[in-house]
Amino acid sequence: MIVAITSPARVTPAAPLGKLNAAYVQALQGAGLLFRVIPPLDDVAEASAVLSEVAALVLTGGVDVDPARYGAAPHSKTQPPYPARDASEIALIAAAREAALPTLAICRGMQILNVALGGTLVQDIASQRPTALLHTTAMRRDERAHRVSVQDDSRLAAVIGATEISVNSFHHQALDRVAATLRVVATAPDSIIEGVETAAGDPWWVLGVQWHPEELVGDPEPWDRKLFAALTALPVSTTVSARR
Ligand code: MN
Repeated sequence: MIVAITSPARVTPAAPLGKLNAAYVQALQGAGLLFRVIPPLDDVAEASAVLSEVAALVLTGGVDVDPARYGAAPHSKTQPPYPARDASEIALIAAAREAALPTLAICRGMQILNVALGGTLVQDIASQRPTALLHTTAMRRDERAHRVSVQDDSRLAAVIGATEISVNSFHHQALDRVAATLRVVATAPDSIIEGVETAAGDPWWVLGVQWHPEELVGDPEPWDRKLFAALTALPVSTTVSARR
């Protein structure tokens, strides 16, 4: 089974190069998945064609989404925009939604998913939600930093097989107003949103997580491995099966 996974381009003196953290490679290969890396597309009109032979879309972590995408002025802590990546991933999300292509959205991936569907973001948790926990930890990337409660009737709980977990945390932004298409199914003890999904009746299978499960697949706890394993046992929509 082949999944598409987005990546940024890293600009070097020689040329812009696609870049994918090795942890994603380990997580996908560990689940028995083949993958196709999708750096920011030169022509976003090709988004649907780019996804035409894959079984799922994985949206990865990265820099902040341009606040202009959700009608906000940039906060002083918001990173400089990366317009090509935002445009490419928003087009891929629209194409995935149109085709009901199952989508796993990680960290920035969950944030741009929410923005693409009409939601907004908290631009800097530390300054805009001062009573929140520390979500930008200096801990190891494979170390669990805070608890997350998962709603027991959610797809996420069914996938990971648990309702109380702990996760790593490397995000200074979070979901604010949640898109109508998405349902909040996981929160940190400070109410910061840590997981979303589409409604059970929606033909589009979507899971979004604010933590980095790809960094935790070597952990004794199976939760994060199960997130990637879920991509090998997806519900098959007629649209998607016709496109495989
Ligand atoms: Mn967090």
